[in-house]
Amino acid sequence: MSHWEIGVFASIDAGLGVHLEVAQELGVPTIQVHAPHAGTRTPAAAAAFLQRCAAAGIRVTAVFGGFEGESYADIATTARTVGLVPEQTRAARLQEMKEISDFTRLLHCSTVALHIGFVPHDTSSVSYRDLITTTRDLLDHVRRNGQQLNLETGQESADHLLQFIADVDRDNLFINFDPANMILYGTGEPIEALRKVGRYVRSVHCKDARWAAADVRGTAWGQEVPLGDGDVGMERYLRTLQEIGYTGPLTIEREIPQDRDRQKADIGHAVTLLQTLRARIAG
Ligand code: MG
Repeated sequence: MSHWEIGVFASIDAGLGVHLEVAQELGVPTIQVHAPHAGTRTPAAAAAFLQRCAAAGIRVTAVFGGFEGESYADIATTARTVGLVPEQTRAARLQEMKEISDFTRLLHCSTVALHIGFVPHDTSSVSYRDLITTTRDLLDHVRRNGQQLNLETGQESADHLLQFIADVDRDNLFINFDPANMILYGTGEPIEALRKVGRYVRSVHCKDARWAAADVRGTAWGQEVPLGDGDVGMERYLRTLQEIGYTGPLTIEREIPQDRDRQKADIGHAVTLLQTLRARIAG
């Protein structure tokens, strides 16, 4: 596998990603996929999808879990509805995440990924302790499938995420680093965060964003923008990935499914930008 294969976030039938045909037209060799709805998580559906990927010369590098009832409408709603953190849905979503891990195995993929949600700040709280237990339970299941779990960044500061990973204390828990999320959620300067968590980074998103105004940062979203137009600094981002020894896929995310034409055009430009930077940095 070559250094920094380019990829795109894709959807089978759920989530904000592009359709497989778009990935194929863009000529990218890898995709991450959003897990499909329960009814589509069948052996037959997995086999059919794998066949389409093989025909397109595309490899699935990670499967992202997601759940009914999640909403990213604003930061407060995200905190209330996303991931394994909300207590009233925690047990049901743990079960569903195990099923997503089983589906991921059918796709011959060894990485499951997840927005776990806003990890409680009080590490002595019952909710935090129970989230640790829940995550270990999931990781044990994931291990039986020969897999690891990568946590998406953004909803925690780098330090809080490191604390959580240390408290879970399992060797198949890693990070999917998304620099734009650090900006969108206002949780920290992305390059500094990447250096801190670098040893756990096993997959990444290439996404860009602009900070919200200082007085509302952390309570109101920043703005997601085309790759290279935001505050991440793509060349610095890739140089830092090189510095921490990351050689895995560069998976482009552009979360504007309401405008599919623009989404595809922006991703096309992102592919070109990453190819140029890769040639300059990785040779
Ligand atoms: Mg992301």
